[in-house]
Order: sequence, then C-alpha cells, then structure tokens
Amino acid sequence: MAIALVSTIHPELIAPCGMNCAVCGHYLAFLNKIPLRKGITYCEGCRPTSKHCAMLRHKCQETLKLAEGEIDYCCDCDSYPCERLNHLDKRYREKYGVSMIGNLEEIRSSGLADFIAAQVEKYRCPRCGGLISVHNKKCFRCDKIVSWNE
Ligand SMILES: [Zn+2]
Repeated sequence: MAIALVSTIHPELIAPCGMNCAVCGHYLAFLNKIPLRKGITYCEGCRPTSKHCAMLRHKCQETLKLAEGEIDYCCDCDSYPCERLNHLDKRYREKYGVSMIGNLEEIRSSGLADFIAAQVEKYRCPRCGGLISVHNKKCFRCDKIVSWNE
C-alpha cells in the first residue's frame, strides 16, 4: 500500500489563537469524511469557516483588532495574552497537552513555515503518514474513530 505522507499544513489552518486546526478532530473528521454521529461534527478550520477566528472572535473585546482583521495572530495584540486566551491555553494544556501560547511563541521565534514543518513531524501517523488528532491522539485515516475526542 502506498503511504500518502502529509508533507505540509496550509497556513490558513493555523488559527489566530495558535491552534493548529489541521490536527483538530472536527477538521480531521471533515477532511476524512468520518460519518457524522454523536460527538462528530465537521469543521473546515477556524479561519476558513469564519475568516478570522471561531473560538475567541466574538469574545475578543479588548482591542477588536482580531475581530476587525487588523492582526493575524493573538500574539500581535496589545492585550496578548488576554484572559480568554490564557483560559483556552490552560484548558488545552490540561486536557490535550497543547499550549496555544506556546505555539504562538514558536511561530514568533521560528516563523510560520518552521512551525508548520515541526507540527507535521510532531503529529505524523507512524503507520500511514497522515496526521494524528490532538483531541483523541488517533489517526483519522487508519484508526477506528467513534467520536472526535474518544
Ligand atoms: Zn494513520
């Protein structure tokens, strides 16, 4: 069987908060056409879906820079890291071992291209070369998927 390696992640899939939508279970369910059932919903990614940000946008009231498209990433905001980003970061660190703020700092120090290259390596499935979900640690190509987070 030919292994179809994921070689890169589209920059549009890196959300303003630092979330890598390419390894989100909702995005992987959409990409791999996992049948919709309880707990599985499709998302095309925060930026593709809502232009700027799906998670923090409506609550981003400190400067409105993100909501109005003045900045591309939360780390370019005057309020960075704001209370809401800190809350999201804490939740993801505790539940999924991912830090949005850590990702943003990596983007700032290494640049987006290097960050993406490191993410591809970090989440690559050893069996099929696809991407593993940050939410359930499963490959949506070759593991059995019962929900986006189980
Ligand atoms: Zn796989």
